[in-house]
Amino acid sequence: MIIAGNWKMFEGPDPGPLAERLEAFDEIDAIVCPPYTELAACVDAGLTTFAQNVHWEREGAYTGEISAPMLVALGVHGALVGHSERRQYFGETDSAVARRAHAALAAGLGVIACVGETLEERDSGDARMVISLQVAAIREETGAPDRLVLAYEPVWAIGTGRTATPELAQEMHAFIKSLLDRPVLYGGSVKPENAAELLVQPDVDGALVGGASLEIDSFVAICEAAARSRS
Ligand code: PEP
Repeated sequence: MIIAGNWKMFEGPDPGPLAERLEAFDEIDAIVCPPYTELAACVDAGLTTFAQNVHWEREGAYTGEISAPMLVALGVHGALVGHSERRQYFGETDSAVARRAHAALAAGLGVIACVGETLEERDSGDARMVISLQVAAIREETGAPDRLVLAYEPVWAIGTGRTATPELAQEMHAFIKSLLDRPVLYGGSVKPENAAELLVQPDVDGALVGGASLEIDSFVAICEAAARSRS
C-alpha cells in the first residue's frame, strides 16, 4: 500500500521529524512530493521522495522545467506526472503527460501518473471516456512497467473537501485496472476521517494526499488507516 503526500507549492512538514514518524510503518510505502526546493532535504532525511513533475528531454531550452537525469543525480526516487493542476493551469496534454512518464521511467525513476475527470465530464457521462484516453496515452508510451503507479483523482474532489464515495472509487479503480494493470492510488480530499473507508476497497492500492499531507499528524494518521486496512 502506497501513501503519497503531494505538498504542491506549500512548505510542508519538516522532513526529519516526518521521516522519524514514518519509520513505524514497515508495510506502507510512504512517499513525499515536495516543491523542488525541498527535494534534497527530503532525500537527505531518508524519505522516499518524488518530484511534482519531470520533463521528457534530458536537457534543453525548457525554462522552468527539470529533467529525469537531474532528479536522479539529486537522489530523487520518482515523479508525479499529469496532476490535474498541471493539466488545468499549465495546459498539459495527455501526450505530454505520457512523454514525461516515459522519460522518468527510462531514467530509472518511479512514476505516479494522475488521471481523472472534471465535474462537467462526470455530469455529462464522459468520465470513462476521458479516463480511457488519459490511460491509453500513458500505456502506449510506457507499457506497464513495474515502477509505474496510477492515481485516480477526480478533479471535482481535489482540494474541495468533496470525496468520491468508496463505491465510486472502487468502481473507477477497477475500470482503470482493466485498461492498465498497475496499482491505482485514490486522490481527492483524503483525510484521516475518510481514509479507512476508501483504503479498504479491494482495488484502492493507496492514496495520493494533498492538503492532509502538510501536517505530520494527519499524514501519519492516514498511514495508520492504510496499515489497518490490510491487517
Ligand atoms: C492532490 O493534490 O493530489 C490532492 C488529492 O489534493 P487534496 O487531498 O487536497 O484534495
